[in-house]
Amino acid sequence: MMHAVDLHVHTTASDGTLRPCEIAKLAREKKLFGIAVTDHDSVDGVPEAISAGLEYSVRVIAGVELSATDEARDIHILGYGMDLSCEPFRMKLSSLRCERDERIKKMVELAQRRGMPILFDDVLRESSGGAVGRPHLARAMVKRQIVSSVHEAFTLHLRRGATCFVERPQLTVKEAVRWIHDAGGVAVLAHPALIGDDAAIEAYLRFDMDGIEVDHPDNDVKQRAAYREMARRLNLFTTAGSDFHGAASGHRGDLGSQVMNYEDLPAVLRI
Ligand code: AMP
Ligand code: ZN
Ligand code: FE
Ligand code: FE
Repeated sequence: MMHAVDLHVHTTASDGTLRPCEIAKLAREKKLFGIAVTDHDSVDGVPEAISAGLEYSVRVIAGVELSATDEARDIHILGYGMDLSCEPFRMKLSSLRCERDERIKKMVELAQRRGMPILFDDVLRESSGGAVGRPHLARAMVKRQIVSSVHEAFTLHLRRGATCFVERPQLTVKEAVRWIHDAGGVAVLAHPALIGDDAAIEAYLRFDMDGIEVDHPDNDVKQRAAYREMARRLNLFTTAGSDFHGAASGHRGDLGSQVMNYEDLPAVLRI
């Protein structure tokens, strides 16, 4: 019997639109055996997801998605199984979230200078206490009728190179992987297809990465085959994740659209 787990899920602790307890309930409705909660630069959604998971009989794996940068490229690294009480790790995450606030404030200032009626408070209202990101700014822009959709906000104003874009402070791939390892977790290269070329992907994997996200909505069939082969050659495990952000987000896959068998997870994650 397949024990389906979806290892890439966002909640209101970052830019997802559903609360951790709602995610656990939805996972149950979709007959998932388990999920990993992987918010951007935050593990704040994990405890609530775990307790709701107990209620709904859904296993919840502690996760995180760190945003590293390399040569103006966004490299996302998933971490699983970290010790959430690890104080140095918690402090690193909280410094990343301060940097997120500063970055989005600068992006709001750029928008204001271009005459857009938007405030940082509008963005905070969208993030409701979670890690602030561009999607919250995009949603605030929609509410202010500056743009007609989140997609348009990214295309016109928020993508790299667009008028309101601000680069994030440098976090290297190596550092991100080390942080996850130091907290007792395993590191997985997220949605490799977004990086594009296989040589670069392989170089990142060699920075001590433990796994690669093969089944993800952004990886096509051919790419998945290539990544699976790469994983076999480099002795890495492979993962599946939908990158669910909530149906209302209009972004990425539906919960449970990419799954793997729980028994195929590395032993450290089978709790
Ligand atoms: P940030 O972490 O603040 O740089 O925001 C990046 C996040 O924005 C990504 O992880 C996605 O969740 C989301 N995102 C990126 N591009 C788009 C897009 N075109 N439409 C909607 N969401 C996007
Ligand atoms: Zn996101
Ligand atoms: Fe990502
Ligand atoms: Fe993600």
